[in-house]
Amino acid sequence: MGECFICDKHAGNIETSGAVIYEDEHVYIGHIDRGGQPNYLGHIMVDLKRHVPTLADLTLDEAKAFGIAMARVSKALKESENAEHIYSFVSGNAVPHLHMHLVARYPGTPREYWGPSEVYDWEGAPMGDNEEVVRLCVRLKDYMEKNPV
Ligand SMILES: [Zn+2]
Repeated sequence: MGECFICDKHAGNIETSGAVIYEDEHVYIGHIDRGGQPNYLGHIMVDLKRHVPTLADLTLDEAKAFGIAMARVSKALKESENAEHIYSFVSGNAVPHLHMHLVARYPGTPREYWGPSEVYDWEGAPMGDNEEVVRLCVRLKDYMEKNPV
């Protein structure tokens, strides 16, 4: 085990919710892990493989891979999971290893619950256990494989 949760995850040293959605030399896409709490289905993490903290640290090749990964998995959320919108943000307050949060918003979400963390608070939000997260990851992976760049 190293000192970084994300590096450990990429190295396969720890298990997280779901399954790998996509991986190449620069990026890794998976589902957020909430430590055993029910997961909001469709809260995706796009990680840079290299351990650097911010968007400002991306090389051009990494930026290209990161942007394409973000677009492709967002498209998969829309087409495969019927998301009507995808929120995105980079926080980095908890782990100084660049990762972007992508959070699907589904049709019917009331306006007062619009927002990347607000959607969690809607009682109709699609929450799921690890098995459902795995199935979601597999559907997104399949969509991406069937719709290459
Ligand atoms: Zn790291």
